[in-house]
Amino acid sequence: MKYFVVFGNPITHTKSPQLFNTFFYSMGIPARYSPYCLELSGSPVQTLKKFGFLGANVTIPFKEVAFKDCDEIRGAAKEIGSVNTLIQEGNKVIGYNTDAEGFYRTIARRFIPKNALIVGAGGSAKAIAYILKQHGINIIVVNRSYEKLEFFAQNGYQTALSDTFNPTITFDLVINATNAGLQDDILPLSTSKVTALFQDMKTLKQCLVYDIVYGKTTPFFALAQSLELPVIDGSEMLVMQAALSGYHFLSAMNIKSDKEEIFQQILNNAS
Ligand code: NDP
Repeated sequence: MKYFVVFGNPITHTKSPQLFNTFFYSMGIPARYSPYCLELSGSPVQTLKKFGFLGANVTIPFKEVAFKDCDEIRGAAKEIGSVNTLIQEGNKVIGYNTDAEGFYRTIARRFIPKNALIVGAGGSAKAIAYILKQHGINIIVVNRSYEKLEFFAQNGYQTALSDTFNPTITFDLVINATNAGLQDDILPLSTSKVTALFQDMKTLKQCLVYDIVYGKTTPFFALAQSLELPVIDGSEMLVMQAALSGYHFLSAMNIKSDKEEIFQQILNNAS
């Protein structure tokens, strides 16, 4: 039997165990997947090694510490600076990031945006900015404070502070990648700014408001909905990134698989 976990704190909201256990069962794979609530000072990589888990997902707030502790980082994670998937390979722990591709797949099945506004500059904003840039989409990253914006400025992204942000273009994709609205009733930017951005979007043929928060209707989501704009929350991204990490889990068990087939199978189980 092989064991997989998802590290987080808190971790009660996770849907990943159900997603993966259903998948393993349906495929006849002898593996189990469980939630693991790690103390805030803990290390996902060291815990994985200590208990001999074959792989793991990593969620808030451990993605950046896991990146630092991995023995090797592969793929997009190198540039994003955070990992959400860990695999034990021999005596090494390898880190991957599937958030970026997971996010992009949720967009690309709807439309290909031209101008994206990312509100927030944390770990998830890094993954989102990276993948949108990879696909040639113009991006501006806005945050309420400067510290986290520095990473984006240093990596060639256009940035602005929320208070002084004064858009000169109409965005066809506006993303809330902050915690605003998760445990409070706050918009990620001032009401007047969000309303103006949304009103501008209404002049476009195709657009999308995207709140990556899931499990709650945030004021950002509700405002977009009240203006009858197309809007999605973070639940689809959550399933997509998990489905993509499933490919790494099967590879770790030496089960030869086609990435797209595995991806589709996990998605089917989720719906
Ligand atoms: P981080 O802690 O790395 O970053 C949080 C960001 O939100 C910072 O830029 C912070 O600004 C900003 N912020 C926090 N509170 C407010 C507020 N009240 N108003 C404006 N800005 C605020 O978090 P993550 O990037 O990891 O996660 C952000 C959100 O995305 C979370 O709600 C999380 O649940 C969700 N998420 C969803 C995923 C999915 O699959 N759907 C995947 C990952 C995350 P500052 O720098 O000034 O502190």
